[in-house]
Amino acid sequence: MAKQDVLDFSAFPPNTVTPFRRTLCLACVADVFTKLLGIPAKKTVTEMRGYTPALEELTGSELVRPYFLAADAKAHCPYCDSSTRKHSVLTTYCVEGGRATDAARRKLVAGLTSQGEGFAVLEAKSTHDEAFFTWLEKMAKLDSNDERWIRHVTQGFLERKHPRTDWDEVFEGIYMIRRSARLEEGWEVDARRLFLAPELYWETVAVQYIVSRSHHGGGQTFEGRLTLQELVSRLRHSGYLRAVGITMHSPGDVFEALMHHLAGGDGGVKMHYVVDRRDFLEKLKELRIAEPRKKAVAKKKVAAKKAATKKAATKKSDGKKAEVKKVTARKAVGKKKK
Ligand SMILES: [Zn+2]
Repeated sequence: MAKQDVLDFSAFPPNTVTPFRRTLCLACVADVFTKLLGIPAKKTVTEMRGYTPALEELTGSELVRPYFLAADAKAHCPYCDSSTRKHSVLTTYCVEGGRATDAARRKLVAGLTSQGEGFAVLEAKSTHDEAFFTWLEKMAKLDSNDERWIRHVTQGFLERKHPRTDWDEVFEGIYMIRRSARLEEGWEVDARRLFLAPELYWETVAVQYIVSRSHHGGGQTFEGRLTLQELVSRLRHSGYLRAVGITMHSPGDVFEALMHHLAGGDGGVKMHYVVDRRDFLEKLKELRIAEPRKKAVAKKKVAAKKAATKKAATKKSDGKKAEVKKVTARKAVGKKKK
């Protein structure tokens, strides 16, 4: 499987790459081109090949036609009931930009350019808050019934905070995590115990609370199960809130400021997206598309001519108005291609 090797994220620090999988129904897309717009089959394939989906479609939580999440490998399209032969899987890998990932990402992207149309690389600006939420969502998927859950969340946070350390190695060698009474910052391992400086320790507790608060029974942390009130109270008494400049009083305000602080504060972060189009291109090659009905094509052509020459006049009749809409839609598709 030489192909698989191209997309190798092993050089990236853990939890810095988020994959999004979407199933795209090619039959649904083809229908729009041929039945709605009257575009011939061959041209339809060309249009589809050149199409780059919007990031919202690839990574957003709301899925609209022609995208869906296939419940199983044999699932039919929820919109047109087509079988899996006409479905392609688009996987988008989101990489949070920054010192921890930039070198590995550049190397990866350089390798992908030789793969031609197989991959698309997109970029978008994001805030630290958004990037942090994406990461939290990933953490929330860890199995909370696993007794090592708290260890996994702690490791995940430390990986995010100090991405250059090999935390797998550190965690393999320790059996206990403690707050250090000696360290002013950072961490150390002593006699198979991991000691965290107070600030890092309390941030770890806060993250444990945030990730687990939706679980049954509320926030589970190194400090036991805590309510928000209890968490805030401990953070205050430990001196952590003062140290990081959070001066609010109500627990809700403190929580909001805490989230913002943990995320990395103000400012932005660049998000990089690698879209794996290989399955899409393969499936598209095999896709059989029926030609649009001749009559419909002729009608559309006439309509297009009329629309171009007599734009103002067409407004008067509802029927013709509809035709203009279709032509505009067709133009929009052409633009998207670029
Ligand atoms: Zn469909």
